[in-house]
Amino acid sequence: MNLKDYIKIVPDWPKPGIQFKDITPLMDNGDAFRYATDQIVTYAKEKQADLIVGPEARGFIVGCPVAYSLGVGFAPVRKEGKLPRETIKVEYGLEYGKDVLTIHKDAVKPGQRVLITDDLLATGGTIEATIKLVEQLGGIVVGIAFLIELNYLNGRDKLDDYDILTIIPYD
Ligand code: IMP
Repeated sequence: MNLKDYIKIVPDWPKPGIQFKDITPLMDNGDAFRYATDQIVTYAKEKQADLIVGPEARGFIVGCPVAYSLGVGFAPVRKEGKLPRETIKVEYGLEYGKDVLTIHKDAVKPGQRVLITDDLLATGGTIEATIKLVEQLGGIVVGIAFLIELNYLNGRDKLDDYDILTIIPYD
């Protein structure tokens, strides 16, 4: 199955010059979504992950079926003001803007083997911030899985110390 057939490229969205990769057709197709998810599940098993962590909102879509399949938990990373209990936070730079990410203070237990998931690796800022949150809570990042990686933005350079699975690379 060629998963690129299920990614729609939207020119100049949300800003001029950005070629947005829309993953909703992939999610909308049961076979394609399962095919992509199964690859991340296999990776998560190899890495013996016992918790999945993903940033809002598409990191939830990628990570939750993996957590369900493994029978492990999923912890959400969210924008500031969205989580109801005590959080820690990190500021980060986006491909287009700046923002703050937060996680509940008790979401990751020290020593837990964490797989981080997101839909797409662009500049790497989002995932770098997510790693900081997990590590501040004592989690061990055993791997990071993306549906898509934009190779030309070199986000991987920020993630040198980590193991990465990308399912659909774009050069
Ligand atoms: P980064 O922090 O620059 O790596 O940007 C990655 C984040 O921005 C991810 O959470 C993506 O959901 C979002 N993002 C950036 N570009 C795209 C795109 O082309 N399609 C879908 N999401 C994108």
